Amino acid sequence: LFDALADQAALAIERVQLVSDVDKAKLAAETDRLRTALLTSISHDLKTPLAAIMGSAGMLKDFGADIPEEARTELLTSIVDESERLNRFISNLLDMTRIGSGAMEPNYAFHFVGDIVGTALSRAAKIAARHRVKVSIPADLPMLKIDPVLFEQVLFNLIDNAAKYAPDETVIDIRGFRDGDAVLLSVMDEGPGIPFNDVERIFDSFYRVRKGDHVRAGTGLGLSICRGFIEAMGGTIRAANRSDRSGAVFTIRMPVPAEMPLLGEKALGED
Ligand code: ADP
Repeated sequence: LFDALADQAALAIERVQLVSDVDKAKLAAETDRLRTALLTSISHDLKTPLAAIMGSAGMLKDFGADIPEEARTELLTSIVDESERLNRFISNLLDMTRIGSGAMEPNYAFHFVGDIVGTALSRAAKIAARHRVKVSIPADLPMLKIDPVLFEQVLFNLIDNAAKYAPDETVIDIRGFRDGDAVLLSVMDEGPGIPFNDVERIFDSFYRVRKGDHVRAGTGLGLSICRGFIEAMGGTIRAANRSDRSGAVFTIRMPVPAEMPLLGEKALGED
C-alpha cells in the first residue's frame, strides 16, 4: 500500500520528463523524501485515533465499574467515533492506491446530477446538520455518464469539507448549470476560503492549509480523491474563492455525453 503511494508520487515527478543522470539522482532523492514524508503523515493519522481508542478502552477496562454512566457513554462514544475515523482513513488510503495504480474502472451509468446530489446530501445530513444547505439544479440539465458511487463520494467529500471549514449556521450552496458541452456543479461555502497560493496544492495528498486543520478529523486525502475520481470519469475539478464574499467554491466540470440514453433507459448496467 505504502509503496503504491510512493510510486504514485514518483510517477508524478517522472511525468515532468526528467532525463539526465543528475536529474535521475534528484528524482531518487525526492522520491525518498516523499516516501519519508508519507510514512510520517500516515503513521500520525493512524496513531492519533488509535491512541484515543486505546485510552478510552483502557479506562473502561480498568475502572469501568466506578465510572459514572454519563462518563462511560462518553468514553464509548469516543471509541466509536475514533474507530469510524480510522475506518474512513483506511478507505481513503485504499481509494488513493486504486487511483494511483490506474486500476480505477468507473462503472458508468446515465444519471441526473440532481439525483446524485440528493443521495450525497442524505448521507451527509448529520455532518451538515448545523449548516443551511441550498440546492439549485435546473430540471433540464442533461444526464451525465458517470459512476454514481464515485460521483457521490466526491460530492460527499466537498459537502463534508464545507461543513468542516465553514462556521455553523452559514449557507452551503450547491448549484448546477450547463456551460456549452459541459455540466458544471459547484459547492460553495461561507468559510475562510483558500489562500491564493494553496488553491492547487489542496488537491495534493495530505496537504492541509492550516496547521489546525489536522485536528479537524480530516485525512488530508479528501480532495485528492475527489480529483482522482473526477478525472477518472473524464471531468475536471478546481478550487477558487468566492468573489462576492469570504468562502471557497469547488467546481466540477463534466462533459455532456455525446449519446444520450433512449427514454426509459435511465441507467446503463443498472436494474
Ligand atoms: P482534509 O481531510 O484535511 O479536509 P482535504 O483533502 O479534503 O483534507 O482538504 C485539504 C485541505 O484543503 C484542508 O485541510 C483544508 O486546509 C483545505 N480545505 C478543503 N476544503 C476547504 C473549504 N471548503 N474551505 C477552506 N479550506 C478548505
